[in-house]
Amino acid sequence: MKIQFRHNHITVFESALYRTTTTLIALDQAILIIDPNWLPVEIDYIVKYVTHNYKNHKQYLIFTHSDYDHIIGYCAFPGAEVIATIQLAENPYKEQIIDEIQSFDNTYYINRDYPIRYPDVNWVILHDGQTMHIGGCELIFYHAQGHCADALFVVIPNYGIWIAGDYLSNIEIPLIDDNLIAYTKTLEKAKNIFHQYPSVHILIPGHGDTATHRLEIKRRIHNDKKYLDLLQQPDSENREKEIKQHLKSYSDNPNLLAAHLENMKKITG
Ligand SMILES: [Zn+2]
Repeated sequence: MKIQFRHNHITVFESALYRTTTTLIALDQAILIIDPNWLPVEIDYIVKYVTHNYKNHKQYLIFTHSDYDHIIGYCAFPGAEVIATIQLAENPYKEQIIDEIQSFDNTYYINRDYPIRYPDVNWVILHDGQTMHIGGCELIFYHAQGHCADALFVVIPNYGIWIAGDYLSNIEIPLIDDNLIAYTKTLEKAKNIFHQYPSVHILIPGHGDTATHRLEIKRRIHNDKKYLDLLQQPDSENREKEIKQHLKSYSDNPNLLAAHLENMKKITG
C-alpha cells in the first residue's frame, strides 16, 4: 500500500483507486483513523499497520462524509469509537449507500472478511467549532456542506493539521453533489479557518496530495473559489474556454470535464 505522506504523528495512505486517502494521526494513547478505504488488501494493510504500531492505542474512526468510498472500511475496525456529523448519523439514504458498496464489490468480484454496514456514530458533531479532547490534543470540528450535506472538517491546531474530506483537492474540481450555495459558504468557512489557525500548515484532502505548506492551502482555497465563480458567470463561449483552462490547474484528466458538466447539470437543474 502506498504511503503518500509521513510526518511526526501523521501517516497518509493512498489507495490505487481515485487516489483516495486514509489518514492515521497518532495521539497520546489514542489513534485517529480517518476514512479507511478502498480495496480489501489496502484496508487489511492499514489494519495490520495500526495493530503493529499502535497496539495499545484507543481507536477512533472519523468519517469525513457518507460517500460510500469513505465508509467502506468501517467494520474492519470493530473496536473503534466513531466520530461523525449528526447529518451522517441520521442520513436517510443509509441503505442506498450500503447498496453502492455491495454493487461495487459485486462488479469486481470482491470479497471482504468483514461485514459491510453503515457506521453507528458514538460521538456526534452538532455545531461548528465543536471540540473534543482526545489523547492530550484538541480536535475542532466544522460542518462542510456543498459536496455532501453530512461532511466535516477537522482541525488539530497542536499538530498544525486540517482534515478536509472531499474538499480542497489538488486533483479534483469541486464536486457539487449537495448544492452550490452551501459549497460557496464552505469555501468562505475554509478561508476563515485558514486565518483563524496560523499553526495549520498540513491539509489532507480525501483525494490527491497532502498540502504541506500554507501557501499551497491558500492556493487551493483560491483555486476552488475561482472555479465556483466561473460556474456562476453567464453562459458564454469565453466562459467555457476559461473553465476548460482552469480545469488544467487540477489535472489533465479528461474526466474533469465530465465532472464539470455534471456540476452544470446540478446547478441549472
Ligand atoms: Zn470521495
